Amino acid sequence: MAVSVYSTEHEIFRRSLRAFLAREVTPYYQDWEEAHLPDRNFWRKAGPEGFIGAALPEAYGGPGGDFLHHIIVAQELGACPGAETAGVLLQEDLPAFHIFNFGTEAQKNKWLPRVVSGETVLTVAMTEPHTGSDLAAIRTTAVRDGDEYVINGAKLYISGGLIADLAIVAVKTDPAAGAKGVSLFLVELDSPGITRGKPLKKMGMNAGDNAELFFDNLRVPSSAMLGREGGGFGVLMSELPRERLLIAVRSLGEAQRAFDLTVEFTRQRTAFGSRVIDFQNSQFVLASMKTDLAQGHAFLNQCIGQAMAGGLDNVRSAMAKLWITEMQGRVMDQCVQLHGGAGYMDEYQISKLYTAARVTRIYGGSSEIMRLSIARSI
Ligand SMILES: Cc1cc2nc3c(=O)[nH]c(=O)nc-3n(C[C@H](O)[C@H](O)[C@H](O)COP(=O)(O)OP(=O)(O)OC[C@H]3O[C@@H](n4cnc5c(N)ncnc54)[C@H](O)[C@@H]3O)c2cc1C
Repeated sequence: MAVSVYSTEHEIFRRSLRAFLAREVTPYYQDWEEAHLPDRNFWRKAGPEGFIGAALPEAYGGPGGDFLHHIIVAQELGACPGAETAGVLLQEDLPAFHIFNFGTEAQKNKWLPRVVSGETVLTVAMTEPHTGSDLAAIRTTAVRDGDEYVINGAKLYISGGLIADLAIVAVKTDPAAGAKGVSLFLVELDSPGITRGKPLKKMGMNAGDNAELFFDNLRVPSSAMLGREGGGFGVLMSELPRERLLIAVRSLGEAQRAFDLTVEFTRQRTAFGSRVIDFQNSQFVLASMKTDLAQGHAFLNQCIGQAMAGGLDNVRSAMAKLWITEMQGRVMDQCVQLHGGAGYMDEYQISKLYTAARVTRIYGGSSEIMRLSIARSI
């Protein structure tokens, strides 16, 4: 039998997070969907319980956990009914690590305790109306003026764009320098010079907000730069393996949940005098899905082990994101099919899982960008 990498303390954390999500997400996600916005109080409750920035050290207000706590958050979000439609919940861990790894002591002391407590909701704003995959092509500029920078431009699709208080914003400080001209700023989103658009209507994940942000002569102090001037691309790339792994972990959790729901549904549903699960077609489809899921779990466990040992590279994490999110898409599609018309109805979880899953092959680097990364290693 495989030895679990999770300690008793990890399992206690998992159980209390699972109970918290069942209490604070599942009863409310339909209200959030109507508003296209989650309740801001979710973060104020999650923070004091130690669920935000769980891997951050105590010196910055964190509970002092490790990367496995971070993985558990993704696993439990994947397993929680309703969380699939609220993609923005507990997504601070990665950007908080950008601040932890690249911030000045003053930035870390100012922001990390507030993020961990839930007082400050943090997001990342890179994508723009004309570019997403090609980050080096962003056009938002930051021009130095004395001890300040003046930011002009726009960002699109930003998760938490309406609810967040602070964003790590990617800009060009040297528009002629390509990737080497990209810098990052910690931007307080209620500053004068920022306008937030309306919540964007999406095919799924409507309990989470995505919005456009406009910067019109926004002034930020030079002390708000995260990392060095021109070093923004490197900061964002440094956390790519973890980001891709976390998307894969959550996606696998959602695929597993879709499978479990479908087994339950086909056991109950009858057609032509038989249970749907007893048709050979249903059994073959479920058998193939079960095999896919087992492969996903095995590969992810290997990647998690490598990440814990500090050896997870861009290529393997790209392989994990590519394969698992593509597999998730196949599984969701087959699960909807086995639900029949019910699978198309919002009142069945599978319908929301299906639409939420469509984005995992697009954001955090699309499947094509994953293939590019993998191909470069060949
Ligand atoms: C729900 C949601 C939440 C998001 N949250 C955020 C957020 O919080 N912050 C943020 O900054 N962004 C966010 N995004 C943006 C997301 O990261 C981008 O949509 C994604 O990176 C793709 O960029 P794009 O939409 O500009 O597509 P494009 O880059 O224009 O790509 C269009 C198509 O071309 C393909 N393509 C691009 N380049 C190549 C190539 N070299 N070779 C082959 N094919 C290629 C792509 O794979 C895709 O199929 C979010 C998006 C969504 C939908």
